Amino acid sequence: MSSVDFASLGIAAPVLKAVKQLGYEQPSPVQAASIPILLAGKNLLGTAQTGTGKTAAFALPFLSQLDEKQTAPQVLVLTPTRELAIQVAEAFQSYAKHIKGFHVLPIYGGADIGGQLRGLKRGAQVVVGTPGRMLDHLRRRSLDLSQIKGLILDEADEMLRMGFIDDVETILAKTPPECQRALFSATMPPAIKRVADKYLGDAELVSIENKTTTVERIAQAHLMVKGHQKMDALTRILEVEQFDGMIIFVRTKSSTLEIAEKLEARGFSSAALNGDLTQAVRERAINRLKKGQLDIVVATDVAARGLDVERISHVINYDVPHDNESYVHRIGRTGRAGREGKAIMLVTQKETRLLRSIEKSTRQPISAFNLPSNEEVSGQRVELFKQQLVGMSQSTKLDKFHSLVKEVAAEHDIDMALLAAALAFEVQKERPLFPKLVVIDTPRASDNDRANSRKARQRNERPDRNDRNERADRTERNERQRSERAPKASQSKKPITDHEGNNVEMVTYRIEVGRNDDVSPKNIVGAIANEADIDAQFIGHITLHDDHSTVDLPEGMPKELFDHLYKVRVCQKPLKLSIHNSSAGEQRRTKPAGKGKKNKPAAKSKPKAHRGADSKPKKPRKRPTADRK
Ligand code: AMP
Repeated sequence: MSSVDFASLGIAAPVLKAVKQLGYEQPSPVQAASIPILLAGKNLLGTAQTGTGKTAAFALPFLSQLDEKQTAPQVLVLTPTRELAIQVAEAFQSYAKHIKGFHVLPIYGGADIGGQLRGLKRGAQVVVGTPGRMLDHLRRRSLDLSQIKGLILDEADEMLRMGFIDDVETILAKTPPECQRALFSATMPPAIKRVADKYLGDAELVSIENKTTTVERIAQAHLMVKGHQKMDALTRILEVEQFDGMIIFVRTKSSTLEIAEKLEARGFSSAALNGDLTQAVRERAINRLKKGQLDIVVATDVAARGLDVERISHVINYDVPHDNESYVHRIGRTGRAGREGKAIMLVTQKETRLLRSIEKSTRQPISAFNLPSNEEVSGQRVELFKQQLVGMSQSTKLDKFHSLVKEVAAEHDIDMALLAAALAFEVQKERPLFPKLVVIDTPRASDNDRANSRKARQRNERPDRNDRNERADRTERNERQRSERAPKASQSKKPITDHEGNNVEMVTYRIEVGRNDDVSPKNIVGAIANEADIDAQFIGHITLHDDHSTVDLPEGMPKELFDHLYKVRVCQKPLKLSIHNSSAGEQRRTKPAGKGKKNKPAAKSKPKAHRGADSKPKKPRKRPTADRK
C-alpha cells in the first residue's frame, strides 16, 4: 500500500466521507498514482488488473469533479461485459452516496431497453455500459454524449478480445475531443496501444510495478474458493492447521471487526486490529498476541505494518492484497527470527491473475492448499477430545463423579463404556466430533488459466481473463465436461425453458472462430449476449473445433439479428454465422442473406428469446477456546 492518505489526494469531501465509511484505510498503489493525475484533468493510460482497486482509481476523481446540476451524462465508462458494467455502476453509487441528486445508469445488452431509455430520459450523470448497447442508444439518439467530460475504457484488452474494439473506437470518436480520457487494461497489446495513441494523446502512464523479493522461509499456499464460502473455508483451515500465532489479513477496517466477530461466534478467540482503534487498544492486542494470551489477530495492512511477533506461525490472506509488495509485506509477519512460517491465501476465481502476478514477482510458485475434508476435521476433533479426556481423568479429582457413574451402571445394569459414550455424546453436541460440514466449492486456478495459457505463451503475454462473466465461466466448465460425452453439437441440442416455462427450440449454428483462435466459450457467450440482445440463458451448448465452433441459439432468429451476428467479431474474427447441418457425420453450411438466403432462419415474429428477455442484472493443537488470559 502507499503511504499517502485519501484526504491528501484532494478528493471532494462527500466522496471522501463515503470512502471512509466503506472502511478503506489507504489508497491502493493504483489509486495513489492515478487520482492526482485525473484530478489535474490529464489523460491517463493505466496498466492495472482486477483487485488492484482500479475502479475507485477513476471513480473517485471523476465524482469529485461532478457537476451535480447537469443531468446530461458527464462521465461515460465502457466495459466489456454486463457484469462489469453493473459492478462499476454499483461502485460509483457507493462512492457517490453523499452526493445529492446523483444518478448512475448501467446499460448493456440482454436487458430490457425500455428501462434504460427511461433512465436516460430521467438523467444520469454517469453512464456505464457495454459498447454494443451504447452504440444502439447512440443510433436511437437516446444517449447524449455532447456534455461528456470524462470517458473511461475499463478492461480495454478484454474489449479487444471480445471483438468490441471497432465499436469502442466509434464511440470514442463521438465524444467531445476535449473530454478527459482514461484507459485501464491488464495488458497493453498493440491494438490497445494504437487506440491510446490516437485518442489519449500525451496521457500520463500508470503501471503498478511488480517488485521482486524472495520469501523462501515461508511455505506459501493458496486456496481457490467462492467469495461467499470464504468464512467456512477459513474456519476449516483453523481447525486443522497447527498454528501458534496467526494474522488474518483483510482489506477494510470494517472487515477486521466483522471477521473477528464471526470467528468469536465460531469459538475462535480473536481480536481486530485496524487504524481506527486507539493506539492503546492496538498495543494491548499486540501484547496479548506476543504473550500467547491471544492467538488470532484480524488486521488491515496499515495496522499490521512492521508488526514483529515471533510466535506468528501463520498468515492468512483472507482477501488477496492489492499488489505484490503488500503480499510480501503481509507474509513477512511470519517466519520471524529465523523460524519457519506458513502463508495461506484465499483466492476467488476472478483474482487468479493477481495470484499469478504474485507468483511471478516472488519467483515462487504458490501451491494449492488442500482444504481439509470432513474426515480430517473429524479426525482432528476426535484426537483432541481423546487428549482432553485422558488429561482430565488423570489430573482432575473425580472421586464423586466416579462413584456416581458406577452407581448408575449398577442400578441400571449398563455397561460403563456405554455410559461414557452417552456423556461424550452430550459434551460434543455444540462442536460435533463427527461433523457434516458444508460443501465448499474449490475451483482450481488452472481452470481459469487453461483456456488462456496457449495464446498467452504464443504472445508472451500474461494469461487472458474474462472473470466477470460468471455465466460464461460456468458454460466453459460445463463445456469441458460435456464435450467428452458429446462430440457432436447436434446430438446434445436440447430445448431451453424460458421465464414463463415455455420450451424454446434450439438451432445449432456454426461460427468461424475455433480453438486455433484460442476462443473460449465465455468469449462466445459474452459476445452474443452483449451484442445480440440474446439473454445469456438462451445461449445453449457450445462446442469448440479447431477452425470453427458451434453454438445452440433459439430457433427463429430475426433477419436483422442474424445479419448483425454475422459481423460480430470474437478474438478479432467475424463470427460469419451460418446454420450448422450435421447429418451422417457430414456438415453442410448455409450462408446468410445475400450469400444464400434460403437457409436463413425464418423468423416473422420475434420469439421472446430473441427479444432480450428482461433479465435483471443479474504445537498442541490450537482449538477454539475462551481467550487465555
Ligand atoms: P477493483 O480492483 O476496483 O475491482 O477493486 C477490488 C476490491 O478492492 C473492491 O472490493 C473494492 O471495494 C476494494 N477496494 C478498492 N480500493 C480499496 C482501498 N483503498 N482499500 C480497501 N479496499 C479497497
